[in-house]
Amino acid sequence: MAGKDRVASFNISKFSPPGIVNLDIGDPTIFESYWRKMGEKSSLVISGNQFLSYFSDSKNECWYLESKLEDEIKRLHSVVGNASVEDYYVVVGTGSTQLLQAALYALCPDDGSNPVNVVSAVPYYSSYPELTDFLRSSLYKWKGDARTYDEGGPYIEFVTSPNNPDGSIREAIVKNGQGKLVHDLAYYWPQYTPITSCLGYDIMLFTLSKCTGHAGTRIGWALVKDKDVAKKMAEFNTITTIGVSKESQIRAAKILDLVSDSCQNPGPDNFFKHGQSLMAERWEKLRKVVGQSGLFSLPQYPKGHCLFTGEFSTEAHPAFAWMKCNKEDIDDCEKFLRGFQIVTRTGRRFGSDPKYVRVSLVGKEEEFELFLERLLAIQEDF
Ligand code: PMP
Repeated sequence: MAGKDRVASFNISKFSPPGIVNLDIGDPTIFESYWRKMGEKSSLVISGNQFLSYFSDSKNECWYLESKLEDEIKRLHSVVGNASVEDYYVVVGTGSTQLLQAALYALCPDDGSNPVNVVSAVPYYSSYPELTDFLRSSLYKWKGDARTYDEGGPYIEFVTSPNNPDGSIREAIVKNGQGKLVHDLAYYWPQYTPITSCLGYDIMLFTLSKCTGHAGTRIGWALVKDKDVAKKMAEFNTITTIGVSKESQIRAAKILDLVSDSCQNPGPDNFFKHGQSLMAERWEKLRKVVGQSGLFSLPQYPKGHCLFTGEFSTEAHPAFAWMKCNKEDIDDCEKFLRGFQIVTRTGRRFGSDPKYVRVSLVGKEEEFELFLERLLAIQEDF
């Protein structure tokens, strides 16, 4: 997709004309009510004399990383049990979007003569092809679907689990022995999926956006096993933005601190349990509406033993609904829904069939309810 179209889709989300229900972008405002309830506890004052320096800790591989943020990232993973932190380097980025690019840079050999192929299994996160090819790098190039990739030589595979857009739990696909993996674990948090094991991959990416809902703070982090890879990722962030905003890092640390505290005190304030019930409620309502006719269908997810909640049969409630239109004469589900003023993202953007759309389930309550109302009305007419 051309850059121009991509920017346009962001504009729609911000300035949606009245009447349009925009469920295209996964803007995680669903968690706003929780944070409003936290009130003053989540506030932070930063004075004019703080954070003038570019530097945080020149001895760290990631020299601009605030130690408080590193501590809180490690603490949260230990509390949730979703990823190992021991012996991992933490690299922070301006969202995990910057880290995806930093990982590509870090995993390409310095002396490679040909661009390294980058793949991910269809349906893949729509930003992967865009960010891989945007600057027409000579280091790497987008090669599409990991399932049909059959070339020899070095490659990089993005493994997204749970996957955006379809919520599936994934493992690497290509096995030619020369690959490097980037595990994008943006949604591996208890509100979306049972935490079935503590992961320990070479590069694991997380983002505050999907973890706590603070997309605007633009903080992502990578847990990296190899020191040289961590160094190269930090180098990418040095060259592109000379580090990451200290204010954002300190805010992220504060938010993560509260989330970890909330998990350690039983009660209604447990952030992930609260998030899980919000997501469960939305999925229940959506399944009920979709179940009224055979016009659309949704994926089913296996239940799992969640190590975080201790429950044996925890359901997954992905951030997006990967919805299929089953009517034979409707080939383009996104266009069809747009006719009813529902904006979604077409399956095509994920390398998949236009009979599918991705619907954000993490937006505002009013928009979600309006979406259900319209979906119900559409189904009654068919
Ligand atoms: N990875 C995945 C799978 C995502 O869905 C997103 C956000 N949509 C990102 C990475 C990037 O998130 P951010 O830049 O906000 O950290």
